[in-house]
Amino acid sequence: MTSNEIKALTGQYIMNTYGRFSVAIDHGQGATLYDPEGNAYIDFTSGIGVTDLGYGYQPWVDAIAAQAKKLGHVSNLFYTEPPAKLAEILCRRTGESCVFFANGGGEANEGMIKLARKYSFDKYGKGRATIVTLNNSFHGRTITTLMATGQEVFHNYFFPFTEGFRYADANDLASLEAAAGDDVCAVMMEVVQGEGGVLPLDVDYVQAVARLCAEKDWLLLVDEVQTGVGRTGSLFAFQQYGILPDVVSFAKGIAGGLPMSGILASEKCRNVLGPGTHATTFGANPVCAAAGLVVQETLTDDFLAEVKAKGEYLRQGIEALDLPCFGKTRGLGLMIGIEVQEGYNKGDIAAKLIENGLLVLTAGPGMRLLPPLVITKEEMDKGLDIMKKTLG
Ligand SMILES: *Cc1c(COP(=O)(O)O)cnc(C)c1O
Repeated sequence: MTSNEIKALTGQYIMNTYGRFSVAIDHGQGATLYDPEGNAYIDFTSGIGVTDLGYGYQPWVDAIAAQAKKLGHVSNLFYTEPPAKLAEILCRRTGESCVFFANGGGEANEGMIKLARKYSFDKYGKGRATIVTLNNSFHGRTITTLMATGQEVFHNYFFPFTEGFRYADANDLASLEAAAGDDVCAVMMEVVQGEGGVLPLDVDYVQAVARLCAEKDWLLLVDEVQTGVGRTGSLFAFQQYGILPDVVSFAKGIAGGLPMSGILASEKCRNVLGPGTHATTFGANPVCAAAGLVVQETLTDDFLAEVKAKGEYLRQGIEALDLPCFGKTRGLGLMIGIEVQEGYNKGDIAAKLIENGLLVLTAGPGMRLLPPLVITKEEMDKGLDIMKKTLG
């Protein structure tokens, strides 16, 4: 099919819930994508932080094919090898104790919220179920995670929402203390706010929150759906903050492009969700887990150090272009935000870049770049060149 045929068919038969850019993608290699007409696009998006190994990564393709041939799915009522191995690696690499596998980020966060509430219920009984989250956060699109999201615009249309969330300002301990109370069971945060605009929290603040949580027996819940799996230059971003969360959620990049998510729980939380309290049909799917194992094998410490170096290279490259529409860059690793100057529109900038062969994202008030972690220097240079020609 041609791009136009795909767009027309989509418009007719797929619910119109996405503000799409005007490009159809057919295939990819490395960090380069192609439309059905063969036009190339440098990818600074990774399908929103998902395709960390890029496209056509042979070990990933082979592992999926081999596992699909062997066993595509079996119920969680039986044991399988790939998710057990993946869980072991994730625990060993983080210091957490056990994993629950699910399918998407919102669903993982639901599990994290359920765990926090049951931890408190088991220990203290009813009435201690409130979770404090941060303003400008993003935690998902389910009825509950919309309410966990600290942005008023998301608290609309779908009433009634789940009760039991209060909000505090990021990097402001006094604001958290003001939102606290006897009814609190947990604090939930992204250590780098993603959808909010690539805003890394201060290390001092995050450590102070961790201490406060330990003191009050509130669980510290870290949403690493976007920051996790190497994106920031460490396996999880919390590892750069010197904390060990009680529960961590992950999703986007965990299986390099197949739907998989989950939560990692610390030793004190390992028995909170027992048989019958939490489940999901597709969770721990062996094909997704086999793909996840390739991601873990690829993300060695050397590879993660390179992610940091690539992030620095790209940020310096962008700042050196000195484009009139862009201000400062910020972020961690290959999770990069760019300020957009007054008088310029982030959506227009993105559309222009995409039209000229560079896929980018927006977030909060600015631009957001999430290139595949395997992106090469040549591909980054091509992307910078497109920026210069399009926006210079
Ligand atoms: C993307 C995202 C989610 C939602 O994940 P889905 O897979 O779309 O449900 C939740 N939290 C954060 C931080 C995210 O970036």
